[in-house]
Amino acid sequence: MKTIQELTRPNIWRLKPYSSARDEYKGVEASVFLDANENPYNGPHNRYPDPLQCELKNELAKVKKVGADHIFLGNGSDEAIDLVFRAFCEPRIDNVVAIDPTYGMYQVCAEVNDVEYRKVLLDEQFCFSADKLLAAADEHTKVIFLCSPNNPTGNDLPRAEIEKLLSSFQGLVVLDEAYNDFSEVPSFLADLEKYPNLIVLQTFSKAWGCAAIRLGMAFASPQIIAVFNKIKYPYNVNLLTQKQAIEMLHRYYEVERWVRTLKEERGYLEAAFAKLPCTVKMYPSNANFFLVRVTDAVKIYNYLVGQGIIVRNRHSVTLCGNCLRVTVGTRIENNKLIEALKNFS
Ligand SMILES: *Cc1c(COP(=O)(O)O)cnc(C)c1O
Repeated sequence: MKTIQELTRPNIWRLKPYSSARDEYKGVEASVFLDANENPYNGPHNRYPDPLQCELKNELAKVKKVGADHIFLGNGSDEAIDLVFRAFCEPRIDNVVAIDPTYGMYQVCAEVNDVEYRKVLLDEQFCFSADKLLAAADEHTKVIFLCSPNNPTGNDLPRAEIEKLLSSFQGLVVLDEAYNDFSEVPSFLADLEKYPNLIVLQTFSKAWGCAAIRLGMAFASPQIIAVFNKIKYPYNVNLLTQKQAIEMLHRYYEVERWVRTLKEERGYLEAAFAKLPCTVKMYPSNANFFLVRVTDAVKIYNYLVGQGIIVRNRHSVTLCGNCLRVTVGTRIENNKLIEALKNFS
């Protein structure tokens, strides 16, 4: 693997980060804070939040069993994805490689940052080959993006191929595990020390039921985390979000219960879909959604909208012709969907 210095854009490596008032004085013994031009009234919302979210990271470190210095927190995973481009990819010179189809934000961030985005088609089972990804890479490929379970296909990517890529690629590998909580396979978090080029993304938006608070996690070597911390906005995670996340981490058992219920509901929905006349092919899922090929995705999508039921039409996505992506809901919601589809003709 190349060194982090070799992978980082030279201007970012040289950068001296903005230093906020809360960076310069971190102690808690003081009782008079006249350093940040805050309003002394309207506590606790008058104070700037902790720029490095130390309390939250310490709680998260316990749950995730990684060191707090291996954690970056951002305004959704989307912030971490954007920082990967800004930190490591020189516009118009460097490129990234990604599986196709996958989550759309990688390509959007690449285009915003004027970085070439190279797509490598998955096979018919939505699996990837490390060799094919490596063949698409060259000396300017800084990052390879993987997503497992993948969105919109729902399947886990094969572990052996991921490991092969991590050991043979010279650059960074971003592994997006937004849906890993719903899968039976272990997270790659346990392998962070083994692979210094690995960046694992997770989020509070799915299993944790907190899409509204916008909190994404990136786990990587302390060296990579330090690069992210250097270029992030100083107060990128607000106080309300930090508080709510700490509160959720104290109710970990509730999240586990949701995940168990949603996996059962996924099985229930899949069994019902398998019997529907409009179903052509079900794709196996390890996430809280599944992809299904139907007789006419556009027609069925519009019919469901008319019934007040919204699923995701993936008809125009590579390899997903006539496919709908269905998120697993409550039993009541799932039954409404099934009943509506039984009445479709
Ligand atoms: C939903 C999702 C995310 C979550 O993004 P946030 O910005 O954290 O809400 C990340 N990656 C994938 C693949 C997703 O589907």
